[in-house]
Amino acid sequence: MDEIRQEFLDIVAQVRTHLEYQRALGVRSLETGTATAARPAEIPEAPRPEAAQTETAAQVPVAAGLAAVRDELGTCSRCKLAKGRKTIVFGEGNPEAVLVFVGEGPGYEEDQQGRPFVGAAGQLLTDIIVKGMQLKREDVYICNIVKCRPPNNRNPEPDEVDACIGFVKKQIAAIRPAVIVTLGNVPTQSLLGTKQGITRLRGTWQEYNGIPVMPTFHPSYLLRSPGEKGKAWEDIKLVMKKLGMPVSEKK
Ligand code: SF4
Repeated sequence: MDEIRQEFLDIVAQVRTHLEYQRALGVRSLETGTATAARPAEIPEAPRPEAAQTETAAQVPVAAGLAAVRDELGTCSRCKLAKGRKTIVFGEGNPEAVLVFVGEGPGYEEDQQGRPFVGAAGQLLTDIIVKGMQLKREDVYICNIVKCRPPNNRNPEPDEVDACIGFVKKQIAAIRPAVIVTLGNVPTQSLLGTKQGITRLRGTWQEYNGIPVMPTFHPSYLLRSPGEKGKAWEDIKLVMKKLGMPVSEKK
């Protein structure tokens, strides 16, 4: 009996992740195969992680929630990174995304343009999303642990992460994605509250506030170590499976 129940729960989980994926692509109705179901049926609102719901101050629309987080950030000078930045790089993408990528911090190009992951590493992330996952960048949401560029692209320091991480947590609470991908050591360790390194954690499911988290290598590391791209693709395939997406072997 337990086996049947588990099988049923697995099927429900697979259907749910598939519907969440379809919803991320903008599908709002489904046709079924029966005569009466030639009519489109409404896709039920995908359940969002409960813990993330409780973190949202009020049941406000997602975009409004993100806008409120941006308003709260303001012209932030909560840490020393404010001095050297040109632009605050808040994040961009689908405010109702089922998939959120969290990076470390803006680099030179991101600081110039005010957009996350637009430099060389950003191009690789875009390739992973577009060529690998067969999605559009606009389907997902992309942000960083710190919103201002660390000088000389150094890692953000602990006091800077402490000052800024509340905002990425609020972004996640507003979006309530089905899956988070953390890119590299800094976002993985700071979001999960662990000291374990990315080499050990990548490819293993972790959890943040009830949301499955897949740590993988940062694209800038993959540019320096292209031999590791295969491992990153394995991680992304796990994410696609979790979201009920068709998986190809293409890298
Ligand atoms: S990194 Fe974050 S906390 Fe620091 S100044 Fe920029 S927005 Fe504020």
